[in-house]
Amino acid sequence: MRALFGGIELGGTKTLWGVGAAPDRPLAWGRVTTTGPAETLAAAVAGIQANVGDDKLMAIGIGAFGPVVVHPASPRYGVVLNTPKTQWIGADLLTLVRERTCVPVFIDTDVNVAAFGELTAGAAVGLSDVIYLTVGTGIGGGATIDRKIVHAAGHPEMGHMYLPLHPHDVSVSFSGACPYHASCFEGLASGPAIAARFGTPGDALPPEHIAWEVEAHYISRGVSNLVFIYRPEAIILGGGVMHARGLRERIRALLVGLVNSYIDIGDGANYVLEPGLGELSGVVGAIALAASASQGP
Ligand code: ZN
Repeated sequence: MRALFGGIELGGTKTLWGVGAAPDRPLAWGRVTTTGPAETLAAAVAGIQANVGDDKLMAIGIGAFGPVVVHPASPRYGVVLNTPKTQWIGADLLTLVRERTCVPVFIDTDVNVAAFGELTAGAAVGLSDVIYLTVGTGIGGGATIDRKIVHAAGHPEMGHMYLPLHPHDVSVSFSGACPYHASCFEGLASGPAIAARFGTPGDALPPEHIAWEVEAHYISRGVSNLVFIYRPEAIILGGGVMHARGLRERIRALLVGLVNSYIDIGDGANYVLEPGLGELSGVVGAIALAASASQGP
């Protein structure tokens, strides 16, 4: 009988679950559509339980969209805070999972567990200090330092740093799509920002469109800020927008210029990485979170 761990990556539109023995890839995984809190988590837990077989489920880890309380000492650990997904506001994710299984449950953000997953079994194996940044419907980042997930009073909000406007946006007076901040990273470079600026989704724009020059401008500046603040050994760029052809190379080239040899990142090829686990970064990280957290500090 093996000791297995469950992982859940709670996303805005889809939720992935997996079962495995950290730090390996999951033995089984699946996805469910994200609806309400109780039914979504019930479906994910059912997927995990159906694949434990004769083995023993030891703990479940969750990587959730934020904002969510991630400090284990907080009485509100696992509670979703203000989010545009209104039916999730106030949802107590840990209690909802514990109502369906008696194993310990641990939670962090989707990007924090994705960073942890890439560190344990993906592109960052062998490293200690990495950042995982997703550029998609939103922009968010997670970091590890000394192989531990970073949070302070709350989890980092890397997507909301202010960035200098690209000349194109100055000329058309576009200051971003974030309802909270003018000219923040997410507001300027998320998928919805591309659509808001050009009236067309990014996946319909050809590689030579100025959209990608603008996109590389913002992502390289966001990344360079993170490089200078965190000094990671590598930064992993994931998310749907990063599938655009040539975008990663543009970002590397601009980043090398921005860093300007102040820190040695070579030509960026071994520094700005693709996720090694594809869409499973979060699930693998949630499983690894469950395994490491249940062993104690
Ligand atoms: Zn913002």
